Order: sequence, then structure tokens, then C-alpha cells
Amino acid sequence: MHDKAHDEGIKIRNGVRMERGVPLCSAELGLTGKADVVEFHADKLTGKDRPFPVEYKHGKPKTDDSDAVQLCAQAICLEEMLRVSVPRGTFYYGKTRHRLDLEFTQDLRQKTKEVADKLHAFIAKGQTPNVKYSKKCEACSFIDVCLPKQVSRNVDVNDYIMEQLKNL
Ligand code: SF4
Repeated sequence: MHDKAHDEGIKIRNGVRMERGVPLCSAELGLTGKADVVEFHADKLTGKDRPFPVEYKHGKPKTDDSDAVQLCAQAICLEEMLRVSVPRGTFYYGKTRHRLDLEFTQDLRQKTKEVADKLHAFIAKGQTPNVKYSKKCEACSFIDVCLPKQVSRNVDVNDYIMEQLKNL
């Protein structure tokens, strides 16, 4: 589902332009990325199209706000790139097959900025954040680079390499 969402291209459905795999960047957040889908809804007040980011998720809504921060970061990128306000976006959850709209409140924008700042602090110090393996990791597209099972065991790198060599 996620791979399909990242196929680039433009579609018009029910009068709404949908762009897939939209490249994003924000100087304010210091982030680049790609939106699964951005819909462009006609805004009668301004006569301009208003971007509406859509993020596809495998499962169901999470109890933490990590998905909300991700989508808010996309909105901040779109605002900076297109110089329009992006007040709302939505998630499409594969398990429930439902959309769940999200409003980008000031609190959420602040939290998103704080998360981006934390990320840059880690990069500046050359540190990798501690991760803890959990069930959600199995559906995460970063699992092959994050290696949460290996990292959360806190194994010495030499022991880890020896263990991998023994398994060859
Ligand atoms: S694989 Fe890493 S980035 Fe993905 S959910 Fe697990 S800990 Fe987080």
C-alpha cells in the first residue's frame, strides 16, 4: 500500500487533484522527505488550491503522537514550499480502511519543531538515539536501518560481528 502511494503521478478524482510521491523540504525544520499523497482542494475564499497531505498507514491509529508529528512536518514543508496555509491533513489506515483527519494545531506544530530540533541535536553530537524493539517495529519501513532488535540488546559490536560470522 505504501509503495503504491509513493508511485509518482497526478490523478484527478471527483474534481480533486491528487499528486503521489511529492518531494518535500523545509528549511525551518531542516527536513526533506516525500509525501505519500497530497490532495489539492479548491478553496472558494482564495480561489487557490489548498494542499491536504494524506499519509497511508498499514495498521490502525497509534496511541502516541508519532504519526501526527510526521504528518504535521509534511504540512509545514508544504506551507513553506507553496506559501499557503495547510490547516489539516488525513491518515488512511489500511486495517480499518478509514480516513482520520488531523488538525495541525499550534501545540502540534510546536511539538513537531521540538522533535526536529532533537533530531538535529543527535546528528550534531554524532549520536544514535536509543531504540526499544516493540511489535510496531515489524510494520515500520525503517526496520532494516534501525535494527531495533540488535540495538536494544546493547551487544558489544565485536560480539555482534562474531555472532553474525558464526551464523554464516
Ligand atoms: S524500527 Fe526503529 S524507527 Fe521503526 S518503530 Fe521500531 S524503533 Fe522506531
